[in-house]
Amino acid sequence: MCLFCKIVNKEIPANIEKESEDFLAFHDINPKAPVHLLVIPKQHFDSFNDVPPEVMAAMTTFIQELVDHVDIKASGYRLISNIGENGGQEVKHLHWHVLGGTKLRFGHFTDADPKDFL
Ligand code: AMP
Repeated sequence: MCLFCKIVNKEIPANIEKESEDFLAFHDINPKAPVHLLVIPKQHFDSFNDVPPEVMAAMTTFIQELVDHVDIKASGYRLISNIGENGGQEVKHLHWHVLGGTKLRFGHFTDADPKDFL
């Protein structure tokens, strides 16, 4: 069973911010912003590659409610899902990083040098 499935099953503790029948939002153990939440479907999908569109549609509503709940909806935030090896995905259970609470670096990637990615 993967790490995030164990969190879903409450075998591993997590700082849960919001829970529904199908989704869970909890605080990242190694936050990269004042608000750094992870949103997962309770059902296991390895990554965004495998998730049915109807699950993503329901997850959209869950994330919209979450950002309202933690009060970053108006100020703005960033959603990131790392996918596979080149995407830098470490935990093989689909998750969205929700980052906010400050002006995030790499706004529009204009402050990143494209050559750094080659
Ligand atoms: P990724 O690199 O996109 O797969 O992100 C995995 C994220 O999971 C990282 O930001 C980790 O800090 C986070 N993480 C790993 N283990 C835990 C845990 N037990 N509770 C909360 N977050 C975790």
